[in-house]
Amino acid sequence: MVQGAANWNTELTEEWLQNYVDDWVAFYRKMTSDGKVASYIPILEEANQNHLGITIMGNNGMTIRSGDTDIPFTIQSISKVISFIVGCMERGVQYMLDRVDVEPTGEAFNSIMHLEMKQLKKPFNPFINAGAITVTSMLEGNTSDEKLKPIIDLMERMFGYRPALNVDVYESERDSSMRNRAIGYYLLETGFLESDMNITLETYFKQCSIEITIDDLAKFGMILANDGEDPNSQEEIIPRPIARIAKALMLTCGMYDASGKFATYVGIPAKSGVSGGIIAVSPPRVREEELPFLDGCGIGVYGPALDEQGNSEAGIRLLRHIAKQWDLSIF
Ligand code: GLN
Repeated sequence: MVQGAANWNTELTEEWLQNYVDDWVAFYRKMTSDGKVASYIPILEEANQNHLGITIMGNNGMTIRSGDTDIPFTIQSISKVISFIVGCMERGVQYMLDRVDVEPTGEAFNSIMHLEMKQLKKPFNPFINAGAITVTSMLEGNTSDEKLKPIIDLMERMFGYRPALNVDVYESERDSSMRNRAIGYYLLETGFLESDMNITLETYFKQCSIEITIDDLAKFGMILANDGEDPNSQEEIIPRPIARIAKALMLTCGMYDASGKFATYVGIPAKSGVSGGIIAVSPPRVREEELPFLDGCGIGVYGPALDEQGNSEAGIRLLRHIAKQWDLSIF
């Protein structure tokens, strides 16, 4: 049973918070059966519908892990945050923003409709497929592996190990990529692509197929919460202005066409992927009372059963509950 709002003034020990989070994960795990594992990339359908896990990593050094925390999964659309950051680091923010906009679409992530209807000068934002594929075309390098390298390098600096490609997912994605190819051809025709279309798409499929865990997402989130600096090493991993734009985009465009609702009900920057991962960022906040993770934290969630918008069904509800209990909202 989920407990009511606690008096967080009493004790914010790791053990105490752990008990709460364990309870919440057990409760929301039941809701995994309301969602559906993604099937448009055939291999993703092999995921276990009932999995649910969360890692919360605080800037204060405290980590809470609960549920299915050790399941590797592919990063999918969450890679769009990293490719955008890498593009900004390589080319400069202005170069990127001249070529991809920062406006939410209210459409599905792989929608083609708005590209054609609005006679755009540039794709709406870097987190829908059209924008992300355009971003990937702007990365330096002449082959997909050259373009991919700085993405994996940045992940290595954040995660503390070098993540690898899940080749089966990559091949499944590549072989079922009709819609992304259609987007690719459209972008080619409109002149938005800055590299060869096939190399760009190959890079995009590879970046989506990098295998990670929720601990990695929590670390990445913690670094974003800390404006791009790793609070453990005090090293700048992402320049502050770029980290801030990434968070603004996550808040406005990170949860597909449910971004407005997520901002309203959860109130923190986040980005999801179709394999069931969500990264969420709770920046440091000022409150009169003592609350968990006031110095900020990164949150990684995994729950492969998705809702209609393609976000983790139980994962979103779990995040919403925690954000409410701990008053995480940035507003
Ligand atoms: N690789 C997936 C695609 O392009 C990523 C989509 C997602 O995670 N929403 O379809």
